[in-house]
Amino acid sequence: MAKHTYQTEIGQLLHLMTHSLYSNKEIFVRELISNASDAIDKFNYFYLTDEKYKNEDWKPNIFITLDKDDNSITIGDNGIGMNEEDLMNNLGTIAKSGTKSFVENLTGDAKKDSNLIGQFGVGFYSVFMVAKSVEVITKKEEQAFKFSSDGTGEFDITPVVKESRGTIIYIKLKDDEKEFTSPWRIKEIVKKYSNHIAYPIILNYKEEESTGEGDDKKTELVSKSEQINAAKALWTMSKSELKKEDYIEFYKSISHGDEEPLVYLHNKAEGANEYTTLFYIPKNAPMDMFRAEWESGVKLYVKRVFITDSDKELLPSYLRFIKGVIDSSDLPLNVSRELLQENRILANIKQGSTKKILQAIVKLDGEDRDTFTKEYNRLIKEGIYTDYTNKELLLDIVRYKSSTTDGMVSFADYVSRGNSDKKEIYYIIAKNENIAKSSPLLESYKQAGLEVLIMDDYEVDEIVTPAITEYKEWSLKDISTIEAPNAKSKEEQEIIDENIKPLLEKIKDVLGDAVKEVKASNRLTDSPSCVVKDSSDPMAGMAHIFRQMGQEVPPTPLILEINPDHAIVKKLDNLDDKEMFEDMAWILLDNAKISEGVDIEDKALYAQRVARVASKAL
Ligand code: ADP
Repeated sequence: MAKHTYQTEIGQLLHLMTHSLYSNKEIFVRELISNASDAIDKFNYFYLTDEKYKNEDWKPNIFITLDKDDNSITIGDNGIGMNEEDLMNNLGTIAKSGTKSFVENLTGDAKKDSNLIGQFGVGFYSVFMVAKSVEVITKKEEQAFKFSSDGTGEFDITPVVKESRGTIIYIKLKDDEKEFTSPWRIKEIVKKYSNHIAYPIILNYKEEESTGEGDDKKTELVSKSEQINAAKALWTMSKSELKKEDYIEFYKSISHGDEEPLVYLHNKAEGANEYTTLFYIPKNAPMDMFRAEWESGVKLYVKRVFITDSDKELLPSYLRFIKGVIDSSDLPLNVSRELLQENRILANIKQGSTKKILQAIVKLDGEDRDTFTKEYNRLIKEGIYTDYTNKELLLDIVRYKSSTTDGMVSFADYVSRGNSDKKEIYYIIAKNENIAKSSPLLESYKQAGLEVLIMDDYEVDEIVTPAITEYKEWSLKDISTIEAPNAKSKEEQEIIDENIKPLLEKIKDVLGDAVKEVKASNRLTDSPSCVVKDSSDPMAGMAHIFRQMGQEVPPTPLILEINPDHAIVKKLDNLDDKEMFEDMAWILLDNAKISEGVDIEDKALYAQRVARVASKAL
């Protein structure tokens, strides 16, 4: 007998399972059946494609046996089974990142936390919510093994004798978990979570039956065995046979959760390629969505035979929140998993599926629309940047904040308000909404009654928005790089420029290379100064892209614009105090930078200047 100690995280996890996660204990049945079904999926594939198994007489089967006297429940399958190494890796260590993430993401709210169990692939351990001890007897190759654990610090793995391939999990229930030996209760749980598992689930139990009449009346224990699920893969059924509840229940079983989906989409494609898809959009974005090692939520089947659940290329990666199934009738069963990427048929399926999903998203409205935006807007932006074919659909889906209305608006909303006869869509990108809304650059647009889209998802918008360039016939304009809408006539501007030129030159002398140029502004009303990007600088639009790729890029030089009508500027023009003039020139630049959320290099120096100017003014 080989004794092993669980890794620390598993120890923690087990402690949680046994002591705090008890709000929804019944899900252990769902998790073990789901594992059984996955194991059968895996063997089914070999059975159908590998010569070695051709002569076996094999029918997929999952069974549950209840024993009231023993207070135990046994769940078994004739799937792929596990060898010693599998047992160690899958049940004894944290080979997967899931366990650690699970422990890190726990909220302390038992109901929420039990929803996390399936998401992080730690389903097996849920058995310790109800088990005093567990034995997993399993056979993959010649030698079978038994894994046993009571859910505390250690587990054993020993060689045992088992005739057939597959796995049997014997669960000795805790004294107060007798309900799980009730056939009625188990049937209810299986109907709820596992009805559309594709394989038959057989329930074995003993029931008291009375025979005879009057004095001859006797009760005896009779063995029963019955199939308790529909055992029909949901997506293979026709839409007309299915109700909304069926789709929701199936979603709960594949998402290992208790939540309803935001959207479900069931499609059969006929024609050049024949395939069925069943897709779901979760109400809450999957936890791993912004991690490098996200997991695919879509399983690929060929004629109902499971092929893979780890192909991240079945859909474009910006749709990595989608859960569901693709079942193709055209792919060969023995399609190489390594070469899936290069497969024409799959490429067509991917394209067709992407369109269908995006079209469904476009149609969302009301609360569902808001939920979608809240959870997935960022991924849609990723799509805009990466999926040129579907750009139009994606541009109809993405939403932004606006300078003139609350909530999130679409490009279509913006255009329908038609606030620019030039067919221009104005936007400002800033580190956060407050900075954007109080930016001096917005002043002239407010005055002219023009709507400006507020893009405050800085890292993403800065890269994606310049790539949009236009929506329908409208062109997108970054207001930090264009003339203000209230621009004065050329003549008027020339007079102003002429008058203020000496002051601008003096300021530029003080600031030196800190700015590219000092200009008279015609976009400001309330603020004395602002900084804008130099739209003629070829690096301006590309700098962040190079930075993203890890390259050092010098900061884009800024242009300082001065408001000639502002009181400070007028006073500055008549100022004799040289030191104060220099301080104020720097303050005009630094204040403008701060308003745009741009870092100023020397904050201490800035504070000193403000203090000096203030003390003189007081
Ligand atoms: P998940 O199923 O999400 O990966 P689990 O903790 O439920 O997480 O299971 C861990 C792993 O143990 C599975 O991925 C699978 O490889 C293996 N496993 C669990 N149950 C079985 C089973 N009945 N037959 C074969 N392998 C199994």
